[in-house]
Amino acid sequence: MDKKRREFLKIAGISTLAGLGGQAVVGRFVTGDTPVTARAEGGHGPASHGDAHQAQAGGHAAGHAEKPTGKRYGMVIDMRAFRANPGLAEKCVKACHSEHNVPNFPNKKDEVKWIWLTEYDKAFTEHSSYYRSAAIRQDKVPVLCNHCDKPPCVRACPTKATFRNKDGIVMMDFHRCIGCRFCMAACPYGSRSFNWRDPRPFISETDRNPNFPTRMRGVVEKCNFCADRLAIGKQPACVEACGSTGALVFGDLNDPGSEIRKVLQTENTLQRKPSLGTLPSVFYIV
Ligand code: SF4
Repeated sequence: MDKKRREFLKIAGISTLAGLGGQAVVGRFVTGDTPVTARAEGGHGPASHGDAHQAQAGGHAAGHAEKPTGKRYGMVIDMRAFRANPGLAEKCVKACHSEHNVPNFPNKKDEVKWIWLTEYDKAFTEHSSYYRSAAIRQDKVPVLCNHCDKPPCVRACPTKATFRNKDGIVMMDFHRCIGCRFCMAACPYGSRSFNWRDPRPFISETDRNPNFPTRMRGVVEKCNFCADRLAIGKQPACVEACGSTGALVFGDLNDPGSEIRKVLQTENTLQRKPSLGTLPSVFYIV
């Protein structure tokens, strides 16, 4: 970490966020209040469930309460197809991590991940799994950045290194990132990773993608919905890896004629932690 970054951390002190508690941080960044104003008001943690449901009310299947403008890319993850195709989820992870030069650190505590597999109960902490079949509860669920419509990470970033682009994708500008990790504290999904070590020696030489930048120590990274591939008319790498299985459906949530909208209209889907009001753009069929 260079001197500038160290100085910033000294001044800002990530403990300010930690002291407020993770849920409080998320609630304040979703509603738009800063942690400082939250304290001044004597705020108590996250928006209540009632508030959050209100935030989603009027929204609809795509989880948006306002009139849509422009594109909003989203994804449906169909666990039925992953169940029917053993090894497919791992293939998606590999395709993503190779595409983006994600380092493979031997020590789990240094791990950097853009898309990863987690237990059903950890993925859907707000949904009851009472009497849910063992087959479903044993699923390894692919999780990634939800490209939230109201992303608390964007509000938390002091340098605008993370921002929402015109297609609704929450992006990272690696050059602007000062490594303060406020975005990580604000993200309620653990979707962001920090490079505690220089990642470059840990990128597979055989899989290295010369067309995607590598990162440096002290920088935060996460899934970008393959914005660079979309720009040249390609699908995200994970979606391409799924081929015709239908396990991942990607498209514009604001386009009523898109395949993803058709799927959302006909299938019962879940979003992760809907009560927080972040309005994830990733949906699950379990
Ligand atoms: Fe930000 Fe992605 Fe976390 Fe949503 S899931 S808060 S967009 S990092």
